Amino acid sequence: MQPEHLNLLYLVAAVLFIMGLKSLGHPRTAVRGNILGAVGMALAVVGTLWYQGFVHMELVAGGLIGGSIIGIVLAVRIKMTAMPQLVGLFNGFGGVASVLVAGAVLIAAVATALMGAGSAAIMSAQESVATAASGLIGAVTFLGSVIAFGKLQGFVTEKPVRYHGEQVVKILVLGGALVLSAMIVLDPSRTELYWVLVGLAAVLGVLLVMPIGGADMPIVIALLNSYSGIAAAATGFVLSNNVLIVAGSLVGASGIILTQNMCKAMNRSLANVLFGGVGAIVENKEQGDIYAGKVKSTSAEEVAMILKTASRVAFVPGYGMAVARAQTGVRLLTEAMEADDIHVEFGIHPVAGRMPGHMNVLLAEENISYDKLREMDAINPDFPSTDVVIVLGANDVVNPIARESAGSPISGMPILDVDKARTVVVIKRSLSPGFAGIANPLFAADNTLMLFGDGKKVMEELVAAYKDA
Ligand code: NDP
Repeated sequence: MQPEHLNLLYLVAAVLFIMGLKSLGHPRTAVRGNILGAVGMALAVVGTLWYQGFVHMELVAGGLIGGSIIGIVLAVRIKMTAMPQLVGLFNGFGGVASVLVAGAVLIAAVATALMGAGSAAIMSAQESVATAASGLIGAVTFLGSVIAFGKLQGFVTEKPVRYHGEQVVKILVLGGALVLSAMIVLDPSRTELYWVLVGLAAVLGVLLVMPIGGADMPIVIALLNSYSGIAAAATGFVLSNNVLIVAGSLVGASGIILTQNMCKAMNRSLANVLFGGVGAIVENKEQGDIYAGKVKSTSAEEVAMILKTASRVAFVPGYGMAVARAQTGVRLLTEAMEADDIHVEFGIHPVAGRMPGHMNVLLAEENISYDKLREMDAINPDFPSTDVVIVLGANDVVNPIARESAGSPISGMPILDVDKARTVVVIKRSLSPGFAGIANPLFAADNTLMLFGDGKKVMEELVAAYKDA
């Protein structure tokens, strides 16, 4: 195969990646997006192997088969609620792959130079800079992702681990890694320095992620996803491989856009997430004043009666629906209400749950049509004409305190305006706060009824009561 043919194939692969990313932007086209991306990747892999003359196929096949089996088993067995940590682990694999490939190229370049004339440079400046960048960013991504995985999986403490002089320690380690990188660029023959750099960068990955609370891990994982792309793009420069540069850049850019969107939807800056150590440690002294004597508790039977007289109902799901796995009850109640000609829809906040798209995925599992899922800006103007909103295990994303310009961790965060509906039914186990750790005046509002209990159990009771009503 000629280089121009390979580059043409890479161009097709790059176009497929971009089309795939675009399709991933909507649940309806997401499966097609995944397939387009996978076809692009298959073309790139086969093209590269072909161009190289299919050498060492036994090793390549071993890697492909082993990797595919691990990937399939993980993807099939993982619980939907554990998806963020699986993505985190995949980022880590990407990081370690970049470290190993760049390291292998460095070792091969040094060996070739030793065997050759000796006068030729071991690596061009482009290659040595890219090698150091691959090692540094790849290793930060790898161990950072392992810690993020551990925090969500429970084998590393979820709490932010803070200590005196933390930022100084991080700056010193980063400084050391940059000095080592410069030494590698100046003298690539010292391969041992590369592995010291990898070790130091891995420590930096731990230091960067440990001070961040478990609930902020999805943002960290999106950021590490971006890092893994940047590391892959750097490895593309090491190998002078165009498709790796393109694919790495796409991952790097989309990861940072996702990170930014998540921060925006929470009205927090990235610096606040990375260095703020937020872990829902907020004083909640006004809770008593907000709720005192104003909270009205209700029963499944009463809510069923109210629903029977409604013509427009909206569900607003949140983290509690995911934890309770209450989505089956949601579907059953939706079907029962629709049979009575009640218009049912779903208000989806961009950061409801613990990862972007969390609610969409759970509702899609129940085959709830995408047409019923409405984004925050689209559904907000319709709440005043909605008879009943059922808030199921959501808290921060419907907290009117967010409308206040300052004074709380969620001030300024855009919310679903459920309090403007005629009646609001909130299903949760208690008056406990959500992720942000603050009281919610919605629970004490005149038009709110609290239906206390586990989301799944309450939904089952509600379905039964509705059918009996
Ligand atoms: P919240 O974390 O604000 O609230 C969830 C509520 O669910 C709790 O108040 C809890 O109340 C209730 N709950 C828990 N278990 C159950 C159960 N078994 N049955 C019924 N209710 C239950 O969730 P939201 O979805 O409203 O908001 C998401 C929060 O997470 C936001 O603050 C967001 O910024 C943050 N976040 C989101 C990310 C994302 O990408 N989506 C990423 C990182 C953070 P109780 O204990 O009384 O039952």
